[in-house]
Amino acid sequence: MGVTLSGELLRGDGTPAQRGWVRIEGEHIAEVGVGRPDDALAIPAGLIVPGFVDIHCHGGGRGEFTSANPEQIDRAVFTHRRHGTTTMNASLVSATYDDLERQIRALLPFVDDGTLHGIHLEGPWISERYCGAHDPATLRPPEPDEVSRILEVGEGRIAMVTIAPELPGAIESIRRVVAFGARAAVGHTAADADITRAAIDAGATVATHLFNAMPPLLHRAAGPVGALLSDERIWPEIIADGVHVEPDVVDLALAAAEGRGVLVTDAMAAAGAGDGDYRIGDLDVRVRDGVARLASSGSLAGSTLTMDRALRRTVSLAGRPLAGAVRAASTTPAAVLGLTDRGVIEVGKRADLVLLDEDLDVDRVMRAGEWI
Ligand SMILES: [Zn+2]
Repeated sequence: MGVTLSGELLRGDGTPAQRGWVRIEGEHIAEVGVGRPDDALAIPAGLIVPGFVDIHCHGGGRGEFTSANPEQIDRAVFTHRRHGTTTMNASLVSATYDDLERQIRALLPFVDDGTLHGIHLEGPWISERYCGAHDPATLRPPEPDEVSRILEVGEGRIAMVTIAPELPGAIESIRRVVAFGARAAVGHTAADADITRAAIDAGATVATHLFNAMPPLLHRAAGPVGALLSDERIWPEIIADGVHVEPDVVDLALAAAEGRGVLVTDAMAAAGAGDGDYRIGDLDVRVRDGVARLASSGSLAGSTLTMDRALRRTVSLAGRPLAGAVRAASTTPAAVLGLTDRGVIEVGKRADLVLLDEDLDVDRVMRAGEWI
């Protein structure tokens, strides 16, 4: 029989909200209609949007993906699930080869059972000058054979790898990442526009938190930001917490990359957990007023965002239209991950749905047809 939800539908294809209903059977969307449903038992809902997809996230609920601790990994995933994220990558910061291998192996069972989509390696093949909250002691150039070896440890579950393209071996490493079926991302980089374009020509398709941890866009020096934002082959990630990127710049970037922009949390363990003292990898982090900074340098150290708050801030602070913001939170990141079975409200898709109230706060979350 299934269940019917009735409310304002934002399908995720960029079209405006419309009064309608969704019928779910088992794990999938069985029927979608406009107007009011015939089903007298239909559950009234406010706004119904596709489940959020977070391609860049380090943890939440005091759990860290680097911990190699199943209880912490679960806690991080479920913290974000309650905030509407129905598909996510686990991001790992820079570490030694042995630590990375151990962390990857701990995450593999969570990818196999579908708890996580895949693993994102944000380092260690990044720029020392733009390393942000990565431990500089662990950074190294991307030696292509080391990159291949780590991809093999991941056994196909590494979904994305961030590389600074100006480093020796970077372009060949980007080719290897792509040949392995993972997304190559440009980020934590000192590259200029030309080197960035070479990375894109080699197969890079994602910009790791555009603007953050890279040289700025100047009107006579486009830099990596200009090269990434203007190239139709790139999906730029944006951390829309109102701190990492000024809201006006979020607005400009998402307008420039219409249909390509991806909201990410880049969340650390404090997401959904509150202020306090935390760690990212081996570095101490202080979280005050929801802003995470390294205790040593004061550098921003990931965010405390959940995807629902990223959506609210994109609409309320950056002034983006809701339909486009939902597309950037759900539909486009699903496409980045190559997932054709979700990200839009359509017949046959997996029933990943977020029910929001008029303030865009989460009422309920459904994942694969089951309420969270
Ligand atoms: Zn990150």
